[in-house]
Amino acid sequence: MSAIYNFNAGPAILPAPVLERAQRELRDYQGRGMSILEMSHRSPEYEAINTEAAERLKRLLGVGEEYHVLFLQGGASMQFAMLPLNFLPPGASADYILTGAWAEKAFEEAGRVGQARVAASTAETGYRNIPLQADLVLDPHAAYVHITSNETIQGVQWHTWPAVGDTPLVADMSSDILSRPLETQRFALIYAGAQKNLGPAGVTIVVIRDDFLRRASSNLPVMLRYATHAKNRSLYNTPPVFAVYMVNLVLAWIDEQGGLAAIAERNRRKAATLYRVIDESSGFYRGYAAPEHRSLMNVTFRLPDETLEKRFVAEATAQGMAGLAGHRSVGGIRASIYNAMGQDGCDALAAFMTDFMRRNG
Ligand SMILES: *Cc1c(COP(=O)(O)O)cnc(C)c1O
Repeated sequence: MSAIYNFNAGPAILPAPVLERAQRELRDYQGRGMSILEMSHRSPEYEAINTEAAERLKRLLGVGEEYHVLFLQGGASMQFAMLPLNFLPPGASADYILTGAWAEKAFEEAGRVGQARVAASTAETGYRNIPLQADLVLDPHAAYVHITSNETIQGVQWHTWPAVGDTPLVADMSSDILSRPLETQRFALIYAGAQKNLGPAGVTIVVIRDDFLRRASSNLPVMLRYATHAKNRSLYNTPPVFAVYMVNLVLAWIDEQGGLAAIAERNRRKAATLYRVIDESSGFYRGYAAPEHRSLMNVTFRLPDETLEKRFVAEATAQGMAGLAGHRSVGGIRASIYNAMGQDGCDALAAFMTDFMRRNG
C-alpha cells in the first residue's frame, strides 16, 4: 500500500481499520455466504445494523428517546429543501445566519419553499468570520434559526453556539458532526451528509427532537415527511444499506478512539499543527479565516500568488498529499483534516509547508 495522505474535502478519508473490516466482510457477512450489499433491508442482519448505528449515534450525541435518528438520502442538499417543507408553513418565516457558501445555499432553497430571512451575514468580509451574538438580528417569531456549524469551503466554524431564545435551533453539521462533544439538547434538528466525517456518500443523518417533529407539516408527499422516516425507523423504503453499514463501523471506530472528548483533543492538536506553520510564516501563508473562527476541519489559506499555489499543490501531490486545492469558488489551498486524518498526516503536511516556504519564500 502506498502511503497517501488524503486531504479531500468530501467524499473524504475514512479510518483504515474501517475500510479493512468492510473488505474482510464484503463477500461473506457474518457467515451468511453473501454480502450485506445483497441482503434484504428487512433481514435481521440489516435490522441489527440500523438499530446499532442509531443507538451509537444517540449515545455519542448524549441524547435519549426524545430524539430520533434518521438515515435518509439526497444529501445535505435535500435537507436544504426538506427542512423548510416540513417547518416553514405559509405565513411563517425562518431565520438564516449566513456564514459561507453552504449557508447561502440553504437560505436560497428555503426561499424557494417559503419565507426566509437573513438574521446575520458575514458576506461583507468574504465569509472570513462567524457573526458575534450582538450582530444577530433574530425574529422572536421565527419558525427556526438555521446555522451551518462548519463552512467547508471558507473554513470557518462556530466555536460557541448562538443564543436564540425559545426559537428552535437547526444546524447543518455536514463537515464537523462528531468532531467534538456537542450540547445536542440545544438543537431541535441536526443534519449531515455522511461523506465528510461519518462514512461514504449516499446517506444523510438527521437527528430531530420529538417535540419539534410534532410541529411538522403533514401536508407533504410521504417521502418528504420526517415523520414517515421516524415512525418507520428509516425503513419506510429501501435505505442505503451499505452506507449505513459503513457509518456504523465509523461510529464504532469513534468509540474505540475514546469517544468525542478524545477525538476533539486530537482534532485541536492536528489543526494547531497547521495553523502554527501559517502563523509563523511571516505572511508567506495567509490563513483565510479570522483566527478566532478558524475551522478545525478545513484549514484554508493562500500563498503569495496563484503560480505558487499551483506549484504547492503539484509538489504536495507528488509527495503523496492528495486533495489540497481549495474549492474552485475561493481558490487557494484547503487541507481537510476530518476525524479519520491522523496527526501523522498533519505533521507531514506541516513539514512540507515549511520546506516549500524555505525554497520559495
Ligand atoms: C458538503 C456539504 C453540503 C452538501 O452536501 P451534499 O451531501 O453533497 O448535498 C452541505 N453543507 C455542508 C456544510 C457541506 O460540507
